Amino acid sequence: MSRYWDDDTIYSQPSAEELRAKANESVRRAGKKGQSYEPVTCRSRRGEICESWWGQAWCENLEKYADYASRLDRGKGYVRSGAVIDLQISSGRVEAKVQGRRKTPYKVEIRIGRLKEEDCQRIIDRCTSRIESLETLANGDFPEELKDIFTERGGLFPSPNEISFSCSCPDWAMMCKHVAAVMYGIGLRFDNNPFYFFTLRGIDPDRFIGVALQNSVEKMLANADKGSDRIIDEGSITELFGVL
Ligand SMILES: [Zn+2]
Repeated sequence: MSRYWDDDTIYSQPSAEELRAKANESVRRAGKKGQSYEPVTCRSRRGEICESWWGQAWCENLEKYADYASRLDRGKGYVRSGAVIDLQISSGRVEAKVQGRRKTPYKVEIRIGRLKEEDCQRIIDRCTSRIESLETLANGDFPEELKDIFTERGGLFPSPNEISFSCSCPDWAMMCKHVAAVMYGIGLRFDNNPFYFFTLRGIDPDRFIGVALQNSVEKMLANADKGSDRIIDEGSITELFGVL
């Protein structure tokens, strides 16, 4: 039977406890069917959702662009209640399941534009010569020294026109709370593994770091050559003085 009000409208928000219980039940049911979900866990109870600077920067980027402040707040509540019961990141795409009041979780898909070749090359060029930062990156940590490079326009963080989304709820034409919850969920995944940032933008992180390191070494060698030229020059001057 159809109902006038959807059971998940703002007129009947499920409580955090209700969401958590339903989310656990959905994960358990999926497990019984042989599907293994990877729920997003959020330790923060208030304030920032993410712990790492890059996770927080992802959320700031989202909040800067999104006009739907109330949806974002509800999304925060959802992710804190453990409602994002599955979230998979692949190249240019995030697929997630979000628990609402109804029994069946909503399916959310977010598509993020892959990084353009010229933008990727520009980021690599700007990372070149920062060997220490690149080593930190290779160890699975986003060095804060590279923050500007990653967060500036054309960096790793997508702009609004590079993001599109859909949700199986009736409210999805706008950014619904389920999509908002998944957006925060992505930030929490980044907290655990910043390389997902590269994956999401269609970049192989090992190749990215490898190319940047190789360019750094080539640049160092080129500079060393210049240095020896200078020594030869100075030598020539001494010789000249000697002659004099
Ligand atoms: Zn939705």
